[in-house]
Amino acid sequence: MAAYRRSQSGGRRILIVSYHRVVSDFTGELQRSIPGLLISQETFRRHLEEAHAAGFELTSIGDAVDVMAGRRVAKKDLCVITFDDGYRDVYRYAYPVLKQMGVPAITYLPTAFIGTEKRFNHDRLFHLLRRIQERRYRPVYDTLPAPSLELLGPILSGQKTVSAALDDFIGDHPARTLTDIIDALEKQLGGGEDLVPEQGDVMNWEEVRRMARDGFEFGAHTLGHTVLTLEPTEVVEREILESKHTIEREVGITVRDFAYCNGWYSDEIIRVLSSNGFRSGVTTEDFPNRIGGDPFTLKRKVLWENFSLGMTGDYSSSLTACQFDDCFGVLGMNHPVPGKRPHITRGGTAVNELVVSEAVASPAEPNPVIVPSAEVPAPAVAANVLSDEAVSTVKEVP
Ligand SMILES: [Zn+2]
Repeated sequence: MAAYRRSQSGGRRILIVSYHRVVSDFTGELQRSIPGLLISQETFRRHLEEAHAAGFELTSIGDAVDVMAGRRVAKKDLCVITFDDGYRDVYRYAYPVLKQMGVPAITYLPTAFIGTEKRFNHDRLFHLLRRIQERRYRPVYDTLPAPSLELLGPILSGQKTVSAALDDFIGDHPARTLTDIIDALEKQLGGGEDLVPEQGDVMNWEEVRRMARDGFEFGAHTLGHTVLTLEPTEVVEREILESKHTIEREVGITVRDFAYCNGWYSDEIIRVLSSNGFRSGVTTEDFPNRIGGDPFTLKRKVLWENFSLGMTGDYSSSLTACQFDDCFGVLGMNHPVPGKRPHITRGGTAVNELVVSEAVASPAEPNPVIVPSAEVPAPAVAANVLSDEAVSTVKEVP
């Protein structure tokens, strides 16, 4: 399968993997956080070892872009480690492992959160929805923003897990709607500090600078973790340019790489990136990258803890090797979710018809974006891969 992928990619595999939070106590964190964002420090370390054993050279995003553009010839297959969102867990638990093993990585920062106590909308909503479930609370929809029913209905009726409902909802509604719902739900639940999650804190700038001094790279991920395909052009430009300039000013580096929030992009967003000094944009489309491919639609494989749990519920080296070799993609067991979206935001209505890219349309490429939406880790082998239930559209955010 590796050989097949290699020939399909133009001679070398260029695998870009994405993580969010690396935690010391996975089981404990699972009780209160979006499962698909979590991986334990130990499993993360094993992933790096497994990638190395599978024949990958662990390298930087710039190196991968150079190989894809034909500016450099790679002696081995390439694997790039990326983190989205700048969670402090990454500084605490991934950074020491990476440094010790000499593995480069890039972290994409939503800069309006860095150095603040703010929590992401997806983490806040997840937390509120769990409180509603725990309290068996019945929301009064009259005093909530209209789209609330679309989010809460399927959860309270048991049709969807909290993670799955969030996946679907965040991809369809602009940031403003999310914050309006958060505010209204908090008010309805009576306020109080326990309505804001303790977990999900992000790095401060000193932590970012420390990692940068050790050679770790940083890319932009908007200001406010904004899904740009749902926003007008002036917002797209501000979110991209100000996040780039803020990192450059705070860290003293040049920022040339970007990660699309929710994994969603459009021609308009790529135009803004390419005309403002960026060299790459990463998606969450789980396809193989190809030599000669577009650096602004880099494909990524989103990984979390359960993608490595075997039959017994313990870590499985073979299953992890399958993930890195993309066995499930090659076998067509994944369902593709393209990240390219029409950019329609005027009038306050975002239209999210699926735009099927060439790569996605090809029947020879059954790879999907797998995203964890199960609330509880599946106990058996690759249940998350095999079950439609566990495969959801969004990878980048919950
Ligand atoms: Zn993100």
